Amino acid sequence: MLQPPHSSLQVAAVPAPRVPARDRDQDAPWHTEAVCQRDEAGLFFAPSKEPTAARLSREEAAKRVCARCPVMVECREHALLQPEPYGVWGGLTAAERRVVLARRRRRDMELKKAARSANRIAAAG
Ligand code: SF4
Repeated sequence: MLQPPHSSLQVAAVPAPRVPARDRDQDAPWHTEAVCQRDEAGLFFAPSKEPTAARLSREEAAKRVCARCPVMVECREHALLQPEPYGVWGGLTAAERRVVLARRRRRDMELKKAARSANRIAAAG
């Protein structure tokens, strides 16, 4: 597992990044441009036994940081592909990432089902 760019430790629709794409050094790892490299406020990961209201407030603050991050898309995809089980990554909480992954799995199953149907129809000629 990649060390999160925000190394302090301990969605309905996926929001589009509000930071315009810009030229980046394509050879540099995405996390070198993370704006959360020094998460001194501890926004991205929950401390133990965090009350719900505090968690919601912290996650919203983390998402505001993500919204101005130039590597939000890369970060989000990383967290979805790993998958990263904890913390806010790419503007999504762990629960929101689980929803996105479930939608992707459903979509993939539907696409495979449609492809099988098309193949059967084509074979029947
Ligand atoms: S999108 Fe958020 S979590 Fe990801 S690198 Fe940027 S600020 Fe950090």
